[in-house]
Amino acid sequence: MKNLTSQNWQVKDEQYVWHSMKPYNPNATAIIQKSKGAWITDIDGNRYLDAMSGLWCVNVGYGREEIAKVAYEQLLENTYTPLSVGHLPAIQLSEKISELLGDDYVIFFSNSGSEANEIAFKIARQYHQQKGHTNRSKFISRYRAYHGSTMGALAATGQAQRKYKYEPLAPGFIHVAPPDTYRANEDHITEPAALPSVQAIDNVMTWEMSETIAGVILEPIITGGGVIMPHADYLLGVKAVCEKHGALLIVDEVICGFGRTGKAFGFQNYGIQPDIVTMAKGLTSAYMPLSATAVRREIYEAFAGSEEYDFLRHINTFGGSPAACAVALKNIEILENENLFARSEEMGAILHAELQERLKNHPNVGNIRGKGLLIGIELVKDKNTKAPLDVTAVNKVISLCKEQGVIIGKNGVTVAGFNNTLTLAPPLIISLAEKDLIVEKLTHALNELLPNA
Ligand code: PLP
Repeated sequence: MKNLTSQNWQVKDEQYVWHSMKPYNPNATAIIQKSKGAWITDIDGNRYLDAMSGLWCVNVGYGREEIAKVAYEQLLENTYTPLSVGHLPAIQLSEKISELLGDDYVIFFSNSGSEANEIAFKIARQYHQQKGHTNRSKFISRYRAYHGSTMGALAATGQAQRKYKYEPLAPGFIHVAPPDTYRANEDHITEPAALPSVQAIDNVMTWEMSETIAGVILEPIITGGGVIMPHADYLLGVKAVCEKHGALLIVDEVICGFGRTGKAFGFQNYGIQPDIVTMAKGLTSAYMPLSATAVRREIYEAFAGSEEYDFLRHINTFGGSPAACAVALKNIEILENENLFARSEEMGAILHAELQERLKNHPNVGNIRGKGLLIGIELVKDKNTKAPLDVTAVNKVISLCKEQGVIIGKNGVTVAGFNNTLTLAPPLIISLAEKDLIVEKLTHALNELLPNA
C-alpha cells in the first residue's frame, strides 16, 4: 500500500472515506501526511502553514516529541483503566485542571467536546432534581453558537443548517440572539444588567418561568459561529441573571480553553467563575482524544445522596484513559513552560493590529475582531449596510490562501446568510515570520479576489 501514487490515494480516499463537510468545505481535498510546528505537508509534498491548528485544536503545534514519548511510555506502563476505578494521570490532571480554572472543581472525563457538553446537561438536570427543583430542565443558548454534533449538543447549537435534517433533536433548548459588538453594538452601555443581550436571557427566564430553567450554555466568545465578540461585561451580566433565576452557568471552553484567547480559559477575560466548564481540543492539543466536564464541588456533592440512583449514571469506556490524561498533562506543562497563554495574547494583538492596518481600507472587510490567537474577519458587500459577502467569494479567498500555502478557515455551516467570516486560530507557537506570512497571504488573497479594493 505504501507504494501507491498520490493519485491512487486520492481515488481510494474518494471511494472509502466520508469526510466531514465534503463537498462544502473548500479544504477537503488535501491528504496530509506529515506535520511539524505550525506546518502540514500533503502526500505530494506541498507544505502549508496551518493557521487553523487543524480544527482550532493543535495549540502547542504539531509533532512534539515529548508528548509522543509520554503517550508511548504511559501505554506501556498502564494501557487502560476505566474511570470507574482510578489511575494516577487522571488524578494529577484533575487537580491541574481545577488549579487552572482558579477554583474548586471536580472533573469528569470523556472523549469529545460534544460529549463533554452532553454530560454537562445531564449533570445540571440531575443536580436540580436532587436539590428538589424537579421542574428545572430547560437550557438557554445563543443563535450562531456551536456546541457539538450529538443530539443534545446539537439541540443547544444555534445554527439551523446543521440541525434541520436531523430533527427532532433533544427537547428543552431555547435560543436567544448572541451579543455582537459589530452588528448590535452595546458599547455605549455601562451596566451589565442594562445590556439588551443580557436582558434577552433575563426575559426568557422570566417568560419560561425561572423554576423550569436548568442553565445557560455559552462560549465566552462564539468561535465557529463567526468569532462573535460580546460586550466586555456580557458574561458578568449573564452570570448575575443566572444567579437571580437559580440557573447554572455552563461555559463551553472547547475552543477558547487552553490559551486560545490569551488566558488559560476564555471566561478568565471576563471576571466570572462558571458553575460548569466543558473543554476538549486544546486540553491535549489533539494529540489524543480527551474532553472534560468540570463542576464546582457543591454541584458534585449533590450526587452523594442517599437514594439508589443519586449517582451520575454516565459512563464511557475511553474517557480519561491513562495515556490521554498523561498527554494532556504534558501538553499543559508545555503551555505553561513556554508561556503560551501570554504568547497567544501578545502575538494575537500584533496579528490583529497588522491585519487592521493592512485591511482597514478594504471595502469588503467589515470588521476584524478577536482575542489572543482567535481572530475573525467579517467580509461584507458594503461597509455601511454590512450586507454579508456571498459564501462563494469567501470560499475563493480561502482557496487562494491555500494555493499560496496558508490554511485559513471560516465560520461553519452557520446561520443562514452569514457564511462570511474568515477565521484564524494558528498554533500558539507561531513565530513572527509565520505571523507575517499569514498577514501577507491573506491580504494578497483579499486584494486579488475582491477587486473593489
Ligand atoms: N463546542 C465547541 C465550541 C466546538 O467548537 C466544538 C467543536 O468544534 C464542540 C463543542 C464539539 O466538539 P467535538 O467535535 O470534539 O465533539
